[in-house]
Amino acid sequence: MNTYDVIIAGAGPAGLFLAGELAEAKCSVLILEKAEDPHSPLKLLPFGIRGLNAPSIEALHRRGLLDQLELHKRLQNPFSGARGKQAGHFAGIPFEYANIDTERWPRRAPDAPPTHLLAELAELEAVLTRRALALGVDIRRGLAVDGVEQSGDGAMFASRGPRSDDAAARRVERGGGVAVRAGGQLFRAGWLIGCDGARSVVRKAGGFTFEGTEPAFTGYSAKVDIADPEKLAAGRVTTPQGMYFQSQPGYLNMQDFDGGASHQAHQAGQPLTRERLQTVLRRISGTGVTISALHIATTWTDRARQATSYRNGRILLAGDAAHIHSPLGGQGLNLGLGDAANLGWKLAATIHGTAPEGLLDSYHAERHPIGAKVLDWSRAQVAVMRPTPEGRALNAIFRDLVNTRDGATYFAGRVWGIGA
Ligand SMILES: Cc1cc2nc3c(=O)[nH]c(=O)nc-3n(C[C@H](O)[C@H](O)[C@H](O)COP(=O)(O)OP(=O)(O)OC[C@H]3O[C@@H](n4cnc5c(N)ncnc54)[C@H](O)[C@@H]3O)c2cc1C
Repeated sequence: MNTYDVIIAGAGPAGLFLAGELAEAKCSVLILEKAEDPHSPLKLLPFGIRGLNAPSIEALHRRGLLDQLELHKRLQNPFSGARGKQAGHFAGIPFEYANIDTERWPRRAPDAPPTHLLAELAELEAVLTRRALALGVDIRRGLAVDGVEQSGDGAMFASRGPRSDDAAARRVERGGGVAVRAGGQLFRAGWLIGCDGARSVVRKAGGFTFEGTEPAFTGYSAKVDIADPEKLAAGRVTTPQGMYFQSQPGYLNMQDFDGGASHQAHQAGQPLTRERLQTVLRRISGTGVTISALHIATTWTDRARQATSYRNGRILLAGDAAHIHSPLGGQGLNLGLGDAANLGWKLAATIHGTAPEGLLDSYHAERHPIGAKVLDWSRAQVAVMRPTPEGRALNAIFRDLVNTRDGATYFAGRVWGIGA
């Protein structure tokens, strides 16, 4: 079969979860994934650690997938300290379980799953892949989408390749659809969803506008050997130059307020060397610390952008393809899973002709404001983390607020997706 109800570009968590939702609703789905191999050390612990919030946990629970996640049962929250009191953080400022008033979230059922847990990206993707395959989703790896065209009347499809007589092909020829090119091959579908991540080709080829703010810093996540670790202070250390933190010995996180220049250079092909990391760590920590070996490293920024519309005709966006922001506060994966949960049943009903007028457009109407709120949440954290006199002043005020009962409850509610 070369015609599908839906083609999804990208087999990340958003694409995989969405594929399962659509297949569960009896739609034929093809995922085209650029990477040949789904495995990456960056998806494994500790780099692959991801905080899941209440809506994500509930969405996985509803589909019977939560129980298949095993690792969180053995994971210790790296931010929780020896006594396990820390529940999370805002801009690196911890809030504690003891201060959170859970009585203010009365709508939770007594047997509801947890409000938050830590998962591993590799395991989550493996669980979602298993479900998608079991439901008949066709996943083709090593095929990067590089061309997209949509048509309202199906005419372009008639002139391209053989017609097939399956239901999806008939729907496409009747109602129009999308032609997708990947790896020199042509695929056809009624709908295309870009779940192809931050640098989405579908977003660009589909004519979407991506607006937002430029980065203040380059973030580093690295596994290194440190010859003289005693030179570094323990915990999350903010200095006039940035921030550094070891989640475990040698697992280094840094924020260097360089306007995102190093990340950009790295993306453009400049290698991330041991010397480079050591220079950054020495500058941020104000020490002469020595990195003796670099095992793996990656960079990221706080660039915050969002597609102004999540739909353009028969092309839609979900996950990082629709919105990017810093990983501070751990919201990106949760947003993507939420997009998928919202879009899946609406698109399926549209495909089957049972959707009321306007149902599909409620995807953008409901999810865009939630994404915009998360982008602002990440921007607010950057403002509080800036190593400037203004940033330090804000940080002190937030520290006071976070340590109140109202403050801790508010921050936990926002981070766990359960409060206002
Ligand atoms: C250090 C760090 C920590 C984080 N911590 C958290 C956290 O605690 N909680 C949280 O919610 N989020 C967190 N995030 C964010 C989260 O990981 C991402 O938001 C999430 O993985 C995005 O999922 P996605 O499926 O939208 O995109 P991705 O995971 O980026 O998947 C996109 C897929 O599309 C494929 N692709 C790309 N181009 C093409 C193409 N042209 N054709 C076909 N396929 C293509 C890619 O190979 C990839 O497999 C963190 C991110 C980082 C960097």
